[in-house]
Amino acid sequence: MKYVVVSGGVLSGLGKGVTASSIGVLLKAAGLRVTSIKIDPYLNSDAGTMSPFEHGEVFVLDDGGEVDLDLGNYERFLDINLSRDNNLTTGKVYSKVIEAERRGDYLGKTVQVIPHVTDAIQDWLEEVAHRPADGSDQTPDACIIELGGTVGDIESSPYVEALRQFQFRVGRENVTFVHVSLVPVMGPVGEQKTKPTQHTVKELRGLGITPDILVCRSSQPLNDETREKLAAFCHVQPEAVMSTHDVPNIYHVPLMLQEQGLCAILGVDCESTGLMDEWRTMAHHLDTLTEDVHIAMVGKYTDLSDAYLSVIKSLQHAAMAVDKNLVIDWIEASHLEKEWNTDRPEEFNHAWNLLNNADGVLVPGGFGDRGVEGKILAAHHARTNKVPYLGICLGLQVATIEFCRNVLGMKNANSTEFVDNPEQAAVVFMPEISTTHLGGTMRLGSRPTLWQVDSCKIRSLYGDGDAVDERHRHRYEVNPDLIDEIEAAGMVFVGKDESGQRCEIFELNDHPFYVGVQYHPEFKSRPHRPSPPFLGLLQAASNKS
Ligand code: GLN
Repeated sequence: MKYVVVSGGVLSGLGKGVTASSIGVLLKAAGLRVTSIKIDPYLNSDAGTMSPFEHGEVFVLDDGGEVDLDLGNYERFLDINLSRDNNLTTGKVYSKVIEAERRGDYLGKTVQVIPHVTDAIQDWLEEVAHRPADGSDQTPDACIIELGGTVGDIESSPYVEALRQFQFRVGRENVTFVHVSLVPVMGPVGEQKTKPTQHTVKELRGLGITPDILVCRSSQPLNDETREKLAAFCHVQPEAVMSTHDVPNIYHVPLMLQEQGLCAILGVDCESTGLMDEWRTMAHHLDTLTEDVHIAMVGKYTDLSDAYLSVIKSLQHAAMAVDKNLVIDWIEASHLEKEWNTDRPEEFNHAWNLLNNADGVLVPGGFGDRGVEGKILAAHHARTNKVPYLGICLGLQVATIEFCRNVLGMKNANSTEFVDNPEQAAVVFMPEISTTHLGGTMRLGSRPTLWQVDSCKIRSLYGDGDAVDERHRHRYEVNPDLIDEIEAAGMVFVGKDESGQRCEIFELNDHPFYVGVQYHPEFKSRPHRPSPPFLGLLQAASNKS
């Protein structure tokens, strides 16, 4: 097993996850089986209880693990399926250590960060790295370990120490340390500054880890002088100083690293499979798309695109498949509401302008009542004007509420998530969900959806098979008591769970594309295998554009 450990310095948001995934692509292109582990040094057990404002979207895995969005990058770049254990957090390590202490495993010893926590970290990394991740039962050949946060943070120090020891446990020759840093470009002549990188490497070396490779994020390619200076001050070979400068799309990142000789430094031949050709084609294809398709995204974290990262990626995958240049028009859902017109008419008009001109409308998942009425208005607009619509999770629920209100005449239809005891409960709390604990208690992970009809648009997009496996994350569902009435009026629940009671997919009759899914298809979309609901939306939207 070869390990590539990716750490970061200076500041967060340098694209460490994309760099780490891209290194994985190069290893995979050399014919290796690659897996990955993300370390998040925070105390939470998992990302599930955190707001998207904190670290962006919560990514959901097949096993129901609610994890950091970087695992989504790994799954998409490497086309693998990871498990909850591939995201290590301090909450998880400490729970394990404390449980062992309660069992009496430490035989009377004082339990300490070193060696007990650091040993537990290393055991975890080694065990999880060996788990098959590519759908076969083969042990991976290489594991990318990404350390979240920046080196020097108090909470990441046990991990840095564990990784320092790890190189001796598995053999120095089996570990490559990659440090991602920032090279700012300053002044009128655009001088590339090396000092921040010098400092972070000094800090890392002070903790006992000497990086083998530096990856420097910069707006411009590094010049030779900067490269040599960094090599001299940071104790790396000049060839091992990589630059990740601005590129038109992220598929260029593995290519850019390959062009700078990273494969030779890693000791692999990245051209031994056809994978790099595929990446070259993909990066180029995306750069050359000219015809725009406008998708209105009606959400509530619209100034924080990381909150919808997988949805954006899925739209991108589907747009590439229909040869269109994706333009996402972000609409803050509450701006569509009437009250906004009184308070802030420009924002109201702007939001409606975007919605009116969209080729397709997407209402993504969400929690809480802010903006819900705006999302209902967006669903209404798409339904009545025959604009292609995809509702994901909450997006299915708001479209159902809209349908109950405006087609079935249930004027006060709502979800019990937003009002207590609504007069007509169109969406209700699922009986099996905990009412006391929020962490890890939703209906989570991969669950089968069984087709209820022989043919419909969304079924033909999914292709053969009696069932669809997609990942879930919700507490509420369409009220099973209303299903017959809703279906009789033309909104058909074409996919249901194994019980036949729970709605998973609806499709509206007499509409170019009006589909809601209770699951989150965005978590399984891949660059070459766009998720069927997204593809359906983009196909319908591009017929319109
Ligand atoms: N808040 C809704 C529920 O819990 C929708 C969740 C979601 O969109 N992920 O059912």
